[in-house]
Amino acid sequence: MADSQVEARPAVIILLGPPGAGKGTQARMLQERFGLVQLSTGDLLRAAVAAGTEAGKQAKAVMEAGGLVSDEIVLAVLKDRMEDPDVREGIILDGFPRTTGQAAALDSLLAEQGQKVSAAVSLEVDDAAMVERIAGRFTCANCGEGYHDRFKPPAVDGVCDKCGSTEFTRRPDDNADTVRERMAAYHAQTAPLIAHYERLGVLSRVDAMGPIKDIGQALGAVVQRATG
Ligand code: AMP
Repeated sequence: MADSQVEARPAVIILLGPPGAGKGTQARMLQERFGLVQLSTGDLLRAAVAAGTEAGKQAKAVMEAGGLVSDEIVLAVLKDRMEDPDVREGIILDGFPRTTGQAAALDSLLAEQGQKVSAAVSLEVDDAAMVERIAGRFTCANCGEGYHDRFKPPAVDGVCDKCGSTEFTRRPDDNADTVRERMAAYHAQTAPLIAHYERLGVLSRVDAMGPIKDIGQALGAVVQRATG
C-alpha cells in the first residue's frame, strides 16, 4: 500500500559479474524498461581517457593492461556523474563497485542521501565462455548499442539496429591477454563483494549463460521486486 508520508527512494541497482557477463547489455535494457540511468564506470573512464583529462591520463595504462583503476579516480568520476540531475530517478551501476573500498564508499555516499542499495545482482557465468563472448563484441559508435559477431549481429550487416549508424568500435582491452587480467582482477577484488551484498540482504543471483532475452526477463523480475 502506498504511504503518501513516505517519499519514494530512487532505486540503486548494482550489476556484478566478470567481464563478458553482459552487464552493459542488460543495464541498457533495464534503462529502457524502468527509466533508470545506466552508470558505467568503464564508460566514464573511457570518456575521460578520450577527453585527455588528468584522471583519464592516469587511468589509461591501467585499463590497457586490464588492471583496476585506483578507487580515488573511479570515485571521483562517478561522484561527478552522480551530481547530474538525470540520475535522480534511480541508477543501474554497471562495473561499480569493483573493490571492497568502493562498496564501502558507495554505502556511505548513499547513506548521506538517505538512500541504500535496492538490489545487487550477480550475473553467474562460466569463465571459459567469456573470452569468446568478449572477443566478438563491438559497439555502435553513435548510440552505444552493443553487438556481437555471433550472438547479436545487427539485423542488416554493418548498420546499427537502433540508430542506423554505420560506424562501429571495438574496445582495445577486448583482447585475450587483457581479458585474462580483467578476469583475474574480478576474482581477486570484485567477487568478494557478492558476500557483502548477501550480508546486506539485497543479493540475487541470475544465470547469465542463456539467451540475452531470458536473462533480461530474470533480471527485470528482480528489479521489479526491488523497485515496485
Ligand atoms: P568495463 O567497461 O567495466 O569492463 O571497464 C573497463 C576497464 O575500466 C576495467 O578493466 C578497469 O581497468 C577500469 N574500470 C572500470 N570500472 C572500474 C572500477 N569500478 N574500478 C576500477 N577500475 C575500473
